[in-house]
Amino acid sequence: NFNEGKFFLRREDISRFHKKFHAFSHKGDFGRIMLFGGSVGKVGAMVLSSKAALRTGSGLVHVQIAESERAIIQTAVPEVMVAGAQEIKKLKSFDALGIGPGWGTEVDLAFYCSLLKRYHKPLVIDADGLNLLAKKPENLKYVPKGSVLTPHLKEFQRLAGEAKDHKERLEKARSFAREHGVYLVLKGAFTSISTPQGEQFFNSSGNQYMATAGSGDVLTGMITSFLGQGYPPLNAAICGVFHHGLAGEMAALKKRRGVIASDIIECVPGTFVELNI
Ligand code: AMP
Ligand code: MG
Repeated sequence: NFNEGKFFLRREDISRFHKKFHAFSHKGDFGRIMLFGGSVGKVGAMVLSSKAALRTGSGLVHVQIAESERAIIQTAVPEVMVAGAQEIKKLKSFDALGIGPGWGTEVDLAFYCSLLKRYHKPLVIDADGLNLLAKKPENLKYVPKGSVLTPHLKEFQRLAGEAKDHKERLEKARSFAREHGVYLVLKGAFTSISTPQGEQFFNSSGNQYMATAGSGDVLTGMITSFLGQGYPPLNAAICGVFHHGLAGEMAALKKRRGVIASDIIECVPGTFVELNI
């Protein structure tokens, strides 16, 4: 705690935000999640998010993507299931939803709103899921309370308007989270997590080599995975952000500026070993 309501997340703080799993745990305990995204030409975002969720420990990962792109994801990630109309009808049976990576902005807004209205539990919104909200901010009221929103600086600007400097931006993030009752993960160096109660947590893991295509899609999969494993939203956000950054550090040990998002995913399992989780 370095200032009233502001906290710095160090490596030694992370294990207490984790849930323990016993030897008799089954697939259901590790959660069943659904990811929405992946329009034509952007299916890669879903490949990354879904694979990252599996590497973070999800028991079952379903994805909802453009119909024409299904063969791509099933080839790239055979562990993933592609959701049909049946699964979408039973939305509430999923332990967590992640919405937005590569979704495109041509999505039917009525469909999007119906997802938000029907779910009733915290979910994760990123990328085009956020851009669509920025296009029609009145839809923010349908976002379930306690959801985790993960904008990068540009996406946050679309949602909350311009800020003259980072201090003002952080203040905007704090009031946005309070006003909408969400956890606002403002991504970048020292990613911050603003809570509905007005606290702010600052991440200490990660590096500049993570500024690469698809890096944020990996984070979305990780946070959705933790949420689906039964972590409270704040814990899911903190563990997601910290492990993502640590995976980026581990990838950079060998690859430096050559790190790509897939390398971050491959390093995720090692972060649990490293932190002895
Ligand atoms: P996105 O822009 O959605 O692909 O997200 C980029 C991801 O990379 C976020 O998780 C950022 O926190 C992370 N990232 C980008 N630049 C840096 C940096 N300079 N230091 C640490 N993390 C970064
Ligand atoms: Mg992104």
